[in-house]
Amino acid sequence: MTGFNTRAIHAGQEPDPATGAVIVPLHLTTTYKQDGVGGLRGGYEYSRSANPTRTALEEVLAALERGMRGLAFASGLAAEDTLLRTVCEPGSHVVLGGDAYGGTFRLISRVASRWGVEHTPADLNDVDALRAAIRPSTRVVWCETPTNPLLNVADIALLAEVAHGAGALLVVDNTFASPYLQQPLTLGADVVVHSTTKYLGGHSDVVGGALVVGDDADLAERLAFSQNAMGAVAGPFDSWLVLRGIKTLGVRMDRHQVNAARVAEFLLTHPAVASVRYPGLPDHPGHDIAAKQMSGSGGMLSFRLAGGEEAALRACERTRVFTLAESLGGVESLIEHPARMTHASAAGSPLEVPADLVRLSVGIEDVEDLLADLDQALS
Ligand SMILES: *Cc1c(COP(=O)(O)O)cnc(C)c1O
Repeated sequence: MTGFNTRAIHAGQEPDPATGAVIVPLHLTTTYKQDGVGGLRGGYEYSRSANPTRTALEEVLAALERGMRGLAFASGLAAEDTLLRTVCEPGSHVVLGGDAYGGTFRLISRVASRWGVEHTPADLNDVDALRAAIRPSTRVVWCETPTNPLLNVADIALLAEVAHGAGALLVVDNTFASPYLQQPLTLGADVVVHSTTKYLGGHSDVVGGALVVGDDADLAERLAFSQNAMGAVAGPFDSWLVLRGIKTLGVRMDRHQVNAARVAEFLLTHPAVASVRYPGLPDHPGHDIAAKQMSGSGGMLSFRLAGGEEAALRACERTRVFTLAESLGGVESLIEHPARMTHASAAGSPLEVPADLVRLSVGIEDVEDLLADLDQALS
């Protein structure tokens, strides 16, 4: 099974041997009958430790990211927390990108910090700045690419080289690209993080997260131990919804990015717009790296308003097809104001985002309706 869409539909999802059910059953059991003490059928004993619906999701995630092990969690942040508390200890240091997801920054700066984990934000496009930020205690270089909300692009292979040279792991949050467009493990990353809430789920109806480990069996084992020991697992129904979403990831991403490219071109020439951030635009600073490591530019973009913060807020409040809401990656188009919404927790920090910035998650509606909606909202 080498093709992406074939793996998305079949990996880990063989028809059920008991009934022939084509779709992985929703196993709402917490416990499993043992044939004699310790006699487990198929390895299942308690659903925090493992559940067949979750196992199917974990297998397809590993197959899509080309990793050896996938682990599904209750949310992206639960996955991140489990990862950080497995690979860090008091005194460990994390370098993270200068415009990381606000919740990731909050987890590291306000929660992990209380357990003695230190951090330094750095510009991951500047290798010298990254090297300067790394300390002997650095355990993790945490990269998002493309970034949220500025769509900066980092060179994963180069970061892997620098991180590994310093004895640190390279973690890549692949939520924005999705495995359809980018497989960080094949470029040298050690662990991929997902908020499956976004493109993998794809329908804005489930919160979930995932880790996928490359080829480090010891790390995979330690993370699996933590998943069970810490208990922030994905529930069976949530796992089932993400499994269903993943089956159409490829066709959805194709449409997301055709629409996003059209929206980007439209905004570029609009008088109310000062600048557009989209990796597919030839003059985007990360365009060449994106072209090298991604097979498409994705469905996310952001833009700055010539009229400043007030104009940005007004645009967010005037769209009718684009819904004003946080989150991203669903079939419906969303608009938001990062400085006051998703990235409010970064205010006053080095990760603060411009107040005139608007972020779009371009959905799979008819693009003419999206363009007309933006046109009326910006006029
Ligand atoms: C949403 C998001 C997260 C956090 O995931 P949750 O599922 O909301 O916990 C992490 N990283 C990125 C890039 C995200 O967009």
